[in-house]
Amino acid sequence: MASRPMRLYYEDENGNHLPDHDGEPPAGARYQVAQFPAQLTTTYVDLDYRGAGSPVIARAEVGYAPGLVLAMVRPTLPERIKQIIRFGSKAPTYDYETAVLRAALACERCGNAMAYRYGLSWGYREGSEAWTRCPTSCQLCRPQ
Ligand SMILES: [Zn+2]
Repeated sequence: MASRPMRLYYEDENGNHLPDHDGEPPAGARYQVAQFPAQLTTTYVDLDYRGAGSPVIARAEVGYAPGLVLAMVRPTLPERIKQIIRFGSKAPTYDYETAVLRAALACERCGNAMAYRYGLSWGYREGSEAWTRCPTSCQLCRPQ
C-alpha cells in the first residue's frame, strides 16, 4: 500500500555530491547516501541498560504514502468532493504527526480503505470484495 520514496546518491571521499548515475556508483564514489523521507522509525530503548554499547533493543521502520498523509491533514478540493460523493460526508482531518502515525501503522487493507475514504485515486472501500480478499489485518481494522 504505502510507497516509500527514496533518494539515493553518491559522494566522493570529501563529501562532494557526485552527478547522477545509471544504477552503478559513479567514478570516484566513496559513500552511498540513501534518504527515506516517507518513513516512520520506531526505536525501543532499555531504560535499565547498564552495559557497554547501546541501550537500543530494537528499531522498526515502516513506510507510508505521502499523498494519503497530505489528504488526512489538508485535503484538496477534489479530494473533499470525492469524500462527500463516496460517503456523504467529509473525512476527519488530523494534525501532521497523527496522520503520519495512522498512515504508517495501517496494514494494506486499512491503508487502502483510508485512501478511498480520503478521496484518493487509489484504494478501495471498506467491506468491498478487494477489502475482504486482502489478507492483512492490524489493530486499526481489527480492534481487539
Ligand atoms: Zn488494518
